Amino acid sequence: MIDQEASEKIYSEEKLDTSTYKCPNCGGESEFSAKDQKMKCLYCGSLFDVDNNEVVEERNLGELLTNGQVWDEAEVYQCQSCGAKEILYNQEVAMECPFCGTNNVIKTEDLPGLKPQGIAPFKIDKQKSSEIAIKWAKKKKYAPQAFRKSAKAENIHGVYNPVFTFDADADSSYDGQLGENYTVVRHVNGKRVTETRTRYFHISGNQSLKFDDVLIQASSDLPANRIKEIEPFPTNNAPEYRTEYLRGYSASSYNKEGSVCWEECKLKMKEGIERAILKRYRYDVKVYLNVKTIFSNEKYKYILVPVYVGHYKYKDKLYNFYINGDNGKITGKTPVSVWKVLFTVLAVLLVIGGMAALIALS
Ligand SMILES: [Zn+2]
Ligand SMILES: [Zn+2]
Repeated sequence: MIDQEASEKIYSEEKLDTSTYKCPNCGGESEFSAKDQKMKCLYCGSLFDVDNNEVVEERNLGELLTNGQVWDEAEVYQCQSCGAKEILYNQEVAMECPFCGTNNVIKTEDLPGLKPQGIAPFKIDKQKSSEIAIKWAKKKKYAPQAFRKSAKAENIHGVYNPVFTFDADADSSYDGQLGENYTVVRHVNGKRVTETRTRYFHISGNQSLKFDDVLIQASSDLPANRIKEIEPFPTNNAPEYRTEYLRGYSASSYNKEGSVCWEECKLKMKEGIERAILKRYRYDVKVYLNVKTIFSNEKYKYILVPVYVGHYKYKDKLYNFYINGDNGKITGKTPVSVWKVLFTVLAVLLVIGGMAALIALS
């Protein structure tokens, strides 16, 4: 038997939840203002708080692998030109795709997947991100002069990027063989000859590490290497997810399951473990290194982190840039002037040539 009263209660609570972005002053629609860190009414400009004092809590990894909460209030849209999938919440759409700039975005029947537990809200606004992009373009030494002078940041969108962060304790035991080089001087037929030799030695021991908030991207809309270049994101003190934060922004749809992300994370952690072990020794050659690791206390968070995506247009080509919406770090592509690069290479060669000539003369 269905508990009628209980299901009604849940329904009315959800209703109540969706109305929190209405302006208490005039009833108008509001958006999250990065500048004010509050909701701002689009009509009367009133500011009001997002009802949220909670910081996102980490969960045990076991929960991730068994189930997650479905993000049912959000809708998925797909760009017909580049295929990027975006999540919007209760928003009128006549939108441009943040990734390719076309207007070819339509609603799909896809499910948005897991509901985020936490969100790192945008801290810098669109205006500021545009200034950052223009300033960066001006500093690009190898970009054509015309580009640097008149670079315009176009089609800037605030896109939340879904990520998993993982914590774990890693206890490893290892053994391996390393080699250290040394030189010997010999006299052969009256001539001095230096020779490099390698002394090999065996290593073994234990290594314990605690990993905190290792970030793994759960969407492929944004290139993973680009996100890495603008890290870190404030994932440690991120507030709990509230739909209000998404008003005025969109989110990339996740397309990598939590369990896949955890496997990827373990590889990343193992690289960290290997680096920590090798740092203990002075060596030049690694022959082999076997590491056995036991992970424990594995925890995860599934959260949204803020990224501005936009592009420069130069000679009918688009060059995407990505800005960390929290700290303003930027990365991306700019056009390259072939002449400037050639000239620099030539100058470097001339300097090297000049030095060689000086050495030869002396
Ligand atoms: Zn208002
Ligand atoms: Zn697109």
